[in-house]
Amino acid sequence: MVSPKNIGKYKLGRTIGEGTFSKVKLAFNGNNGEKVAVKVIDKNMVLKNNLKHKVQSEIRTMRLLHHPNIVRVQEVIATKTKIYIVMEYVSGGQLLDKMSYVDRLNECDARKLFQQLVDAIDYCHNKGVFHRDLKPENLLLDNQGNLKVSDFGLSSLSKPNDVLHTRCGSPSYVAPELLMSKGYDGAAADVWSCGVVLFELLAGYLPFNDQNLMSLYHKICRAEYVCPPWFTQRQKKLITKILQPRPEKRINISDIIENEWFQIDYKPSRAYEIDPTTNLDDNKSDAFDPIEEKTTKSTITKSSSFINAFQLIAMFQDLDLSALFEEQDHKKQMTMFGSQHTISETVEKIEAAATDVRLSVEKMNNFKMKMHPKQTMTRSSRSYFDLSAEVIEVAPAHCVVQISKSAGDLRKYNEFCESLSSLLNEKSTMPSHDRDSEDQCKVSSIAKKHDECYAKPNREDFRGYNSA
Ligand code: ADP
Ligand code: MG
Repeated sequence: MVSPKNIGKYKLGRTIGEGTFSKVKLAFNGNNGEKVAVKVIDKNMVLKNNLKHKVQSEIRTMRLLHHPNIVRVQEVIATKTKIYIVMEYVSGGQLLDKMSYVDRLNECDARKLFQQLVDAIDYCHNKGVFHRDLKPENLLLDNQGNLKVSDFGLSSLSKPNDVLHTRCGSPSYVAPELLMSKGYDGAAADVWSCGVVLFELLAGYLPFNDQNLMSLYHKICRAEYVCPPWFTQRQKKLITKILQPRPEKRINISDIIENEWFQIDYKPSRAYEIDPTTNLDDNKSDAFDPIEEKTTKSTITKSSSFINAFQLIAMFQDLDLSALFEEQDHKKQMTMFGSQHTISETVEKIEAAATDVRLSVEKMNNFKMKMHPKQTMTRSSRSYFDLSAEVIEVAPAHCVVQISKSAGDLRKYNEFCESLSSLLNEKSTMPSHDRDSEDQCKVSSIAKKHDECYAKPNREDFRGYNSA
């Protein structure tokens, strides 16, 4: 028998699910006895298969989502060799299993699951998250038979109206526009997959199925499917509107919700109230509402240069997520603070500050730069300094600056951050980690909360540990 492993406060138990590059295990929280599901990902496997982006995307997006019909991520733990994604445990198994032991669902059960799926997807889309791999294997059921969307490994986070290009998903559930390798609208593609799931729930078989992949693609692209005789007119009407091959003509989520068949016994799921102590999203309302007030809705949707608050948080998470795959570098230091200037003025001021302390600036792009000492200095010199800066535009004359140090004296680095911060914010003089007010502090509190969640066991070395 394999002895149970402890990861932080969690005791890992039996394997309850298996993905391509991960195992999902049942685990117990030693502090409160609560059952959780822990996705164990092998870092080497991820790196070898170029899946770093997939894993980061999954963690980043799932942590943004707080909805009763979406599997909740509680914590992420990284060790030298593994990443553990701690999630709420969903005990009822995959919808796929349920469908394999019943022929088809009755109308009421099918509608309830479809309503929950649509609610969850509507919530995701409003957050800018597109799942892109909706299928019954990724839809779990809790002990009450409620649906929970999981596996955001292929999801993308993007601005509304962005055109996506990565081809994702499983052939039978994938929208025609994805098969044609055109740019596509992530929302419409998810709607299509929801339609395939609805058809399958009501019919007990897939609308598009063929042993031959090319024939399958043809059927999908022409929306060639046959409804079983028991489909009602209202069911057929809705399915026809969803399985519309031209995405621009396809029904959207709000119109699905308005649909008369959908509305029967509809009890909308409400997104969770946000817990101020644990949720990053709460920081969003706390820290970024003043910024959002200035940025009108139309600005967010029309201008590609602005991001909204949750995307900003996600970007910071992304920056930090790279650390999941790196050995911890204790010399590496990072400070974030705000700037009350436009993005180009901010970049100019950083360049000026760097020149002042005799650093040469190497621009990576319009928002990123590296700063090194002039050539004559060696790495071992006491004055050697290696910094990088990134500027993120939040609203006109409102940016966030991140300064990282990979080499050099900490005192000098702090002085540099301090003077740069005061240059960018006339009123303030200290960098974010020393201040307890204003935007800068709010941003760093997000970073801090994030760090807390990415707890790295200090003394435990899991090298050599193999998941059972
Ligand atoms: P992959 O990205 O490798 O496909 P998934 O996230 O889909 O991995 O997880 C694989 C399987 O593990 C799921 O199909 C499901 O059976 C099980 N599983 C995943 N998350 C949970 C959870 N939170 N609770 C219970 N079982 C889960
Ligand atoms: Mg999966």
